[in-house]
Amino acid sequence: MPQQQSLFDTAPAPWEVDDAAEALIATVVIAGGPDGEFDYLAPGELVGAAKSERRLEAGRRVRVPLGRGNRSVVGYCVALETKPSGGRKLKSVASVVDRQSLLSPPMLRLARWMAEYYLCPLGQVLEAIVPAGVRHDAGSRQVVLLAAAPDAAERIAEAKLSAKQAAAMQQLLASATPLTAKQLASLAGCTLAPINELRKKGWIVTSVERQNADRLAPHAAPRQAALELNPDQVAALDTIRGALRATEHRTILVHGVTGSGKTEVYIQAIEEVVRYGRQAILLVPEISLTPQTVGRFRARFDRVAVLHSHLSDIERHEHWRRIARGDVQVVVGARSAIFAPTPHLGLIVLDEEHEATFKQETAPRYHARDVAVRRAADQNVPLVLASATPSLESWRRAKCGEFTLVEMPRRVLNLPMPVVRTIDLRNEAYARGSHGALSRPLVRAMEESLGEGGQVILLLNRRGHSTHIQCPSCGKSMQCPACNLSLTFHRHDNLAVCHYCDYQVPAPTKCPECGNPGIRFSGLGTQKLEAEVRARFPDYPCLRMDTDSMRGRGSHEEALAGFREGRHRILLGTQMIAKGLDFPNVTLVGVVNADTALHFPDFRAAERTFQLVTQVAGRTGRGPKGGRVLVQTLSPDAAAIVAAVQHDLQAFARQELPTRESMGYPPFGAMARLVTRGPEEQTSLALADELARLLRELGEPCSPPIRILGPTAAPIAKLRGDFRFHIQLFSPQGELLRNTIRRATQGLKPPDHYAWIVDIDPLDMM
Ligand code: ADP
Ligand code: ZN
Repeated sequence: MPQQQSLFDTAPAPWEVDDAAEALIATVVIAGGPDGEFDYLAPGELVGAAKSERRLEAGRRVRVPLGRGNRSVVGYCVALETKPSGGRKLKSVASVVDRQSLLSPPMLRLARWMAEYYLCPLGQVLEAIVPAGVRHDAGSRQVVLLAAAPDAAERIAEAKLSAKQAAAMQQLLASATPLTAKQLASLAGCTLAPINELRKKGWIVTSVERQNADRLAPHAAPRQAALELNPDQVAALDTIRGALRATEHRTILVHGVTGSGKTEVYIQAIEEVVRYGRQAILLVPEISLTPQTVGRFRARFDRVAVLHSHLSDIERHEHWRRIARGDVQVVVGARSAIFAPTPHLGLIVLDEEHEATFKQETAPRYHARDVAVRRAADQNVPLVLASATPSLESWRRAKCGEFTLVEMPRRVLNLPMPVVRTIDLRNEAYARGSHGALSRPLVRAMEESLGEGGQVILLLNRRGHSTHIQCPSCGKSMQCPACNLSLTFHRHDNLAVCHYCDYQVPAPTKCPECGNPGIRFSGLGTQKLEAEVRARFPDYPCLRMDTDSMRGRGSHEEALAGFREGRHRILLGTQMIAKGLDFPNVTLVGVVNADTALHFPDFRAAERTFQLVTQVAGRTGRGPKGGRVLVQTLSPDAAAIVAAVQHDLQAFARQELPTRESMGYPPFGAMARLVTRGPEEQTSLALADELARLLRELGEPCSPPIRILGPTAAPIAKLRGDFRFHIQLFSPQGELLRNTIRRATQGLKPPDHYAWIVDIDPLDMM
């Protein structure tokens, strides 16, 4: 409800009140200010301003007086309409900030939906949708523009001007648009002196404008022709085309095994969209924004905007403006590219739709897939979700008929799927053969692959050297003082590091508790694995990829290029290497420990394990030499691992979905998570208790009742010095769940230094 009650200067006098009187009213949202929407009168001169000027319209920011002191603040005008002023005496909009609208009507609708759905203030959503570089007008500068004085054309015949001055005036009179002094000087072939003289004499009038300098370097990529599609690809493309040609919204889930040619299918779908003169948005996980992937798009489209996290504010602003002008055919980007201001959207594609990086973990805590579903439906365009391991959320919606399912069960060019075998680490026979992380069968397979000229990928999803530092004598284990979590030993810089807050201390040489010098470093990380691999295979160059070794900008691309060219024969690393890479010479993938993610206190632990193992297995067998996969595990019978070995999502879903259903977990209902945090354990808990009480009061009488778990200490009970408690809520009806939380938390203020967050459809359970 628009309101301004608290913002009256004074109560209106009775004779001023006219309930029926209509006025043109701008509704304004103030980001970072008080929550809510505020009505202001829209002055005629602002509304009627010429298009190029600072005209008042929905989607631009405005300056308005706020509160009793009429503090001047900037807010977003989210609506402009004639309506009854309801007897209120409204203040007026003071001025317009933006030279163009930042939010089209569809984007304003999307923002409103996000605010409602994610229980996030609208102002905060708007700040997430409009990039900071655009808001701050990054890269623009003031330019002084020159035009001929209004009477100049009449006076010029009799005027006594020097030849240079006359030439400059002639150019200016002939020009359809104002010019900068530099432009005019070059046209007239003179210096700035005669122009300055003309300005002094009043022949030239000036105006000041902000302009953007287009600084994006053009990309000239060698062009590639479309590939001849195989029957599976043709069928998939036909389904997407059907939706495109019917100009209707439909969500199409393309479930295609790794290397089945999904990318080629949606590239051809986007080509069709571009032929219609429309734009497409392609969302990929940040990690996939490699030159390899990007190059593939640049080779197929003339005008591609790539939005990655390394862009400067200025670059982001330039891209945004090009996109808003309709100059871009395809927007390729991570999560936030879903907010690209394409004027004629034709198609949205999400590749690797199961990836958790599509969820933002700060407010607004949106999931780009769900926002995409909403945007595509609102703008009546198809949405394509592609993955070899779709999320169970999308899988179920496809099975229920809400999404259209397209299966691509075969690899292109009749390449076989790699053969996957598990190695049971419990089995003594394997254990006896080796003392390190690599079992005997894995070592033998590596020797074979390397000996035949192939390359090897080893996955270990834990960085650092040793994940546990403990004194064997007194049992003291080294923990982060701020997070109470185990410190990881990093051998390269001889540090003990907290992986949650980056707390670092020199690695201990003796026990800090009892002084015993025999402190033990155990638990396997990528650094220790690297040492073992180098010792065992000294003749084969080995490359480690994890967030520690890939700190520098561009190091990721450089490393992958080195591997592609064969400079490294063994690539080992964290999940960073499991995604999307296509290296034909990789003949062996080893999963060093498939169990690392399996026992997390998270109902998606099995699903994550299935996805990770299936994805990394897909990195091999992409060339003529074929490929195989060895998975080391202590739980070879776990459903997630059995199904991953067979590349069988159906089998995994058959096992997993009934468990989820019996617990009311997603996708069988909506979920929300509330987390409190603050410096004192008791106060943080008291806040969580109060939240839980309010939620139960409203949620339990609902029908069906909302299931509320907690509060309990969060799995990461202490983080950066803050104690954390969480409450989990479940309901078959998402709307009911959100309403309950909205009502329960209304007006609840945490004490200073304490906070609570609401996470709708949470992925992070820690
Ligand atoms: P996915 O996205 O399913 O992993 P890609 O589209 O990346 O698969 O295709 C894998 C490889 O196969 C790529 O190198 C691609 O160029 C190639 N490819 C895709 N479709 C065809 C086709 N119809 N004929 C020949 N090669 C193809
Ligand atoms: Zn810490």
